[in-house]
Amino acid sequence: MKDVDIINVLKYEAVIGLEVHAQMLTDTKIFCSCSTKFGSEPDTQTCPVCIGMPGALPVLNKKALEFIIKTGLTMNCKISPYSRFARKNYFYPDLPKGYQITQYELPICEHGYVEIAVDGEIKRIGIIRIHMEEDAGKTIHEGEGNYSLVDLNRAGVPLMEIVSEPDIRSPREAMEYMKKLRTILRYLGVCDGNMEQGSLRCDANVSVRPAEQKEFGVKTEIKNLNSFKFVEKALEYEIKRQVKILEEGGKIKQETRLWNSERGITESMRTKEEAHDYRYFPEPDLVPIIVDQKWIDEIQASLPELPDIKRKRFVSEYGLAEYDADLLTSERPLADWYEEAVRLGGQPKAVSNWIMVELMRLLNEENKSIEGCTLKPKQLVDMFKLIEKGTISGKIAKTVFEEMYKTGKDAEDIVRDKGLEQISDEAAIDKAIDDVIAMHPKEVERFRAGEEKLIGFFVGQVMKLTKGKANPKMVNELLKKKLS
Ligand code: ADP
Ligand code: ZN
Ligand code: MG
Repeated sequence: MKDVDIINVLKYEAVIGLEVHAQMLTDTKIFCSCSTKFGSEPDTQTCPVCIGMPGALPVLNKKALEFIIKTGLTMNCKISPYSRFARKNYFYPDLPKGYQITQYELPICEHGYVEIAVDGEIKRIGIIRIHMEEDAGKTIHEGEGNYSLVDLNRAGVPLMEIVSEPDIRSPREAMEYMKKLRTILRYLGVCDGNMEQGSLRCDANVSVRPAEQKEFGVKTEIKNLNSFKFVEKALEYEIKRQVKILEEGGKIKQETRLWNSERGITESMRTKEEAHDYRYFPEPDLVPIIVDQKWIDEIQASLPELPDIKRKRFVSEYGLAEYDADLLTSERPLADWYEEAVRLGGQPKAVSNWIMVELMRLLNEENKSIEGCTLKPKQLVDMFKLIEKGTISGKIAKTVFEEMYKTGKDAEDIVRDKGLEQISDEAAIDKAIDDVIAMHPKEVERFRAGEEKLIGFFVGQVMKLTKGKANPKMVNELLKKKLS
């Protein structure tokens, strides 16, 4: 039985809320001027502030504030004119200060929502809050000895935490929601969305309840899911686990669990700590954050066109299918590439087809994104011109396109250097057709006896003989003349 079926059959409903951490793409850390660059030698990007020396004073990075306001506005949040930081106290070796600076009772963004599409239906997922906080360092467990190492380069890197309402009802929805957040964050340029490197990760809260029950069930929290698949798989597993416990008359324990991707299960990590365990209190070393409406308005005015709106525009303006428009607008650079080609005179549907079929295939083969692509929109449009002029056939164009992609050369040069011009010379095509007819007397007889679908066979043979270069329209016409 499939996972989802079990829930249906047993008439339980899942309730899910996600807490997503996104690393902000600022050059420097949130409270000091150390670099946020990924992958440097351990402890080379640190200073008294981010390693928590007593007396060192934090100062808020304005860029981080701008980024979170951008995100809040895009996700339909209210931006608080007055908010502040708080200390969350706990001990861990990667947290030298003994507390994390975060926001608690007065976050910068509240009461928003994003929309996701599941099976063609639009669903709104509420956002409780988006707040700023600093990341902790990294504990490294490697080497032979009985010890762990700590790298503090990541300590103080700015994060935003996006907390959803418990509005999500299935692992699929959770994954779609997470994908939507990633797309938006990347469009805004506030987070690179790299889940493997941990710049986007998610804690998933989940409970189940009998379908007729109003109150939510007791939830568990699955920590640190760093891929879309893991979000889906971990939730599927956890929902089944909870349903099974309830079916057997047991009770769900509120706790924090970890996803074990090798075994495909969630495992208990610790019983859930309560807010009061952290002794939150207002951060005394930072002034409250007061943002004036004028700045918010400026940021609002600077927001880029967002994916949902862009997608709708691609459908209405260029006459694209919903599916194509969705794919083309999934990443801003891809949408820009598309529009640049159209602006240069490419026929909208043709550009879309070439991107979706040929370009995507080539990029996928190398596991590359459009940003790493050296082929320019103008080169595609120039190739279209060669097709229109009849210099190359649509079939040969595929070869030309691949060559352009791989070598960076222009279509015209490739066609000339490789001798790929279409043969539109009637005498040459005539000759090829005569040869084919001479080689296949039986088929000619059958054709003349009425087996007309053999025309395809003859066209194929002529194209083979001319290495795909004969003008297909002329081949068709001349063949019909000669065979009749
Ligand atoms: P906690 O106090 O345990 O941190 P919060 O109320 O702050 O819980 O919510 C944290 C996250 O858990 C939010 O994303 C919220 O939507 C989600 N959540 C809250 N209650 C439930 C529940 N009963 N089942 C599933 N998710 C829930
Ligand atoms: Zn620092
Ligand atoms: Mg909470």
